[in-house]
Order: sequence, then structure tokens, then C-alpha cells
Amino acid sequence: MDYAERTQRATDNGLGDLLAAPTKNQISFAGGLPDPKLFPQQELSVAFAAAMANSTGDQFQYSDAQGFRPLREQLARLLQRDGVRATADTIAMTQGAQQALDLIARLYINPGDTIVVEAPTYPGAISAFDTYEPHYEGVPVQSDGMDMVALRRVLTERRVKLIYTVPDFQNPTGTVMSLNKRRTLLALAREFDVMIIEDAPYRWLRYNGINLPTLSELDQSDRVIFVDSMSKVLAPGLRVGWVHADAEIIKDLVALKTGADLESSTLTLRGVSQYLADNDLDAHIAALRHNYAQKRDAMVAGLRAEMPGTAIISAPQGGFFVWLELPTTINTDVLAREYKDELALVPGSMTYPLHDHHNGLRLAFTHASIDDIKTGCQRLGRAVRQAMAN
Ligand code: PMP
Repeated sequence: MDYAERTQRATDNGLGDLLAAPTKNQISFAGGLPDPKLFPQQELSVAFAAAMANSTGDQFQYSDAQGFRPLREQLARLLQRDGVRATADTIAMTQGAQQALDLIARLYINPGDTIVVEAPTYPGAISAFDTYEPHYEGVPVQSDGMDMVALRRVLTERRVKLIYTVPDFQNPTGTVMSLNKRRTLLALAREFDVMIIEDAPYRWLRYNGINLPTLSELDQSDRVIFVDSMSKVLAPGLRVGWVHADAEIIKDLVALKTGADLESSTLTLRGVSQYLADNDLDAHIAALRHNYAQKRDAMVAGLRAEMPGTAIISAPQGGFFVWLELPTTINTDVLAREYKDELALVPGSMTYPLHDHHNGLRLAFTHASIDDIKTGCQRLGRAVRQAMAN
């Protein structure tokens, strides 16, 4: 039987492969996987045992489609500390940030409606949006974020409904959008009446410098839908994400979530709430930052030693990824395929909405050990030299 037309481009996205654990001889720079040694396993076990032991049994019952309210209150406090004006009523819990992206697109996008995405962008966002059959406009990412001249041109030429951006340590380039560009983006969204999705799962993972205000904080006209997650700072297996927006939008997103899965696992939300009540999340994040900064340094140094002078290597101040731009004679789809037994790589083509760029690579430095990062960079160096010699 034919599949629905709307799912045809969404079924073959290759994302599942990205999140697979590396095989025995493979070093993975592919999926945005945290270092498993850094999961706070003991603390989560204790917190989940306490959530389980609740004598009322509410942890096993259907609950609140918006998500366990005490957790939303805790998250609102964390966000407020970061300048984001969230309250329990402006937050809805989702199954990871990924479900938030799906629900937001479901709320706004008719087939053919235009979504602006950064080019390159997070491949999972493209797959979440694909189901709703949007028209994509990719706006180039510069070293200080989206190219605002190109964005204005797009907004002038077409009616755009949504702009999707990862302003902090963008997936895949690692760039941070400058304060000027944040202000320009909000002014453009206002001028052209567009909603912005601000996806911020890496925001708390800064290794140098200090964070700029979120778009959500700078927004004066309720145009920003802020998406966030525990995946990168706690554990992706929890599938705990959330969306913060104007309370009316939250109400409608919750209605859509009810249709999708009724509600997130109340047991999990209670477990995470207990974890946050009993532990110092800041101290945990400080340990992650310390560890990932070293891995970032190892990868940047490894690439600088191994890559040809014509390659462009990003040096991100946070997040999970280094972005590598190779000479255009090198096709990274081919490279990733040919060396897949040794190295798991995300070819840049996966990160462009039309899959039409072939010389970039997204390299995650968080999952592999420092030794494996060094060896992986050497393997990549050999692969690139071989490709250049052909
Ligand atoms: N947005 C971005 C930018 C991401 O990098 C990821 C995870 N790779 C997600 C959303 C999805 O995260 P989650 O596990 O919270 O669904």
C-alpha cells in the first residue's frame, strides 16, 4: 500500500543510524551523544527510587498532559535565573526537544508553507518538519550566526511562517548568534510577522566566555517559542524536553500533544523532579563543561594537525560539535560511506534542508574518549589525504 504523501520524504532520514552506538572497531563522531561516563547514574537511581516509592500511586496513574507541575515550577526557576520569563503555566513538557519541534510544526505548518532554517541546521529538525511538507528556505550561517541580509531578502520575497534557529552552539556549526543579530532577528520577525523557534539544548554547555541573552528574553512581542531539553545536560534516555511560550500557544501545543501521546511519562517527570530537588544541577553541569572542554580541545588540536591547510575547522565555545569544511573536491557523503567501519561521521549533506552541500562534516566530540578522539582525527586525516590524492 502506498504511504501517505506527507510521509514520503520523512521516512528515509537516516537519523536512527546517527544515534546508534559505535560498532567494535568504529570511533563515533556521529550522533550528538553525551559521554556515558558522565551520566549521574547513582543520583538518578536514588531519585527514581524515591519517585517510585510514593505511597499514593500517582506516579503510575494518568496525570497532567502539560507535565508534572512541580517539575515545571523547578524548570521555570532555572530558566528565570537565565533571564527567561518562564512560569509553570508557560511551560509544557515534551518527549525530548524533538517532540516539541514536531508539535510546533504541526501547529503552524500547512503543506507548502515556508520555514526558514539555518543552512546548515540540525538534521532532526528537518525530519520533524518534513512530515508537514513545508517549503524550506536555508539562510547561511556565518561565524556570528544567521546571515541577516540573506534573511531579510527571503522575508521580502516570500511569506514565511516560522524561523527555526539554534542560537547557542548551533548544531552543526557550533556558532553563537551575536547580540546584534539576535536583536535584528527579533526586529525582522516583528516586521514580517513571523514566529521564531529558539532551540537551546546546548545553552548551558559553554566552555569559554559568558552567554548572551536568549531570544526569548529579548523578545518583546511573544514571537519566540523556546525549546529546551535535559538530553545534553542530564541524559537523553529520559526523553525529557520542554517548550516555553505564551500561555495560549502552550495550551494549543498541549492539546496537540494529547492527540499524539496523551502525556509524557509521569514517573519519569517525577524522577527528574526528585533529582533536581536533591542534587546540585549546576555542579553536575560544571563537571560536564570541564570534561567536554578538554574533548573539544583534543578534537580541534587533532584536526589542526591532520587536516589540509585549505580545510576550515571551527573552534566552538560550547556545545557538542566541531564543524569541518573541506575543499569542494571532497564529497563527504562518499567519505563517510567508505570509512564507516572505522569512523562514524555525519556528512554535511544531512544538515542542509535540500541536502545539496557535500564538503562539510559535523564532528561530535562528546562521546568518544580523548584517546579515541586523537585516533579518530588521525583516521580522518588519512581518509581526507586519500580523497585528495584521488
Ligand atoms: N535540537 C537540537 C539542536 C539537537 O541537537 C537535539 C539532539 N541532537 C534535539 C533538538 C533533540 O533533543 P532531545 O533528545 O531533547 O529530543
